[in-house]
Amino acid sequence: MPRHPERQLERLSQPAAARLLAGSRTAVVATGSVEQHGGHLPLGTDAYAALSIAERVAERLDTVVASLGPVGIAPYHLPWPGSLTLAPATLAAIVIDICAGLRSAGAERIVVVNWHEGNSPTLRLAASAAQQQHGVQIVIAEAHVITSSQYPGEMEFTHAGAMETAAVLAYDADLVRLDEATEPSDYPAGEAAHSLYRRPDVYPVLSDFRDIAPTGWYGQPARAERARAEEIAEAVADHVVRRAREIWAAFPATAPGNSATGDGTVTAAEAGAAR
Ligand SMILES: [Zn+2]
Repeated sequence: MPRHPERQLERLSQPAAARLLAGSRTAVVATGSVEQHGGHLPLGTDAYAALSIAERVAERLDTVVASLGPVGIAPYHLPWPGSLTLAPATLAAIVIDICAGLRSAGAERIVVVNWHEGNSPTLRLAASAAQQQHGVQIVIAEAHVITSSQYPGEMEFTHAGAMETAAVLAYDADLVRLDEATEPSDYPAGEAAHSLYRRPDVYPVLSDFRDIAPTGWYGQPARAERARAEEIAEAVADHVVRRAREIWAAFPATAPGNSATGDGTVTAAEAGAAR
């Protein structure tokens, strides 16, 4: 089962999208980033990686995937021209507004498929606000974390290495230019520096990616292989759906879809709460 661009909200007709959103009462949102990934991967690597997984999740949940636009929060990549960032408040406002629109179309549950560490703190804040303001139930899937943790060693948690190259191969292999993968930064040094930022207990806050990789990237992109990349993207989508369903089963009371009416009809009270 390859990609599913036909699940993208923007490509669908309004009646078709309305049917899917109301029928599934669920929507998928993709969040990534536009930032330098060396000479071999596109600026939109994280955006494409998120969309690739999000489409597959939407297919499994029989619904649509909405894009917020490709740009995320990546101020620490700005030393490389072409990288873009949103202010955290901007991203949060977009997430909250889009959740409101999806909710009024009938989506009570939203799966955010993220592929960018810089987005995560803001996504949590925005999801909390959207839940309070619009009565949606949001789960956040960190697709890059799932990929690296499910395939340790093979899908390295580097920047522009094997894992991200595989992610772009699974989206559009023509965007990968391995012959341009020049000037990698030192792998052990990059991994050691990155791991300090990824500690769950005491950690610094990244302000310049050159502190991790002076040339902008490190890793082993040549280890990625197209057929395997496709297999992994499918397995990651399966994982996201399995986990989301676990959460929905564990917390049915907080799912608006399981409220008193229970039939997916939005009551006047619920509609009021959603405004
Ligand atoms: Zn990336």
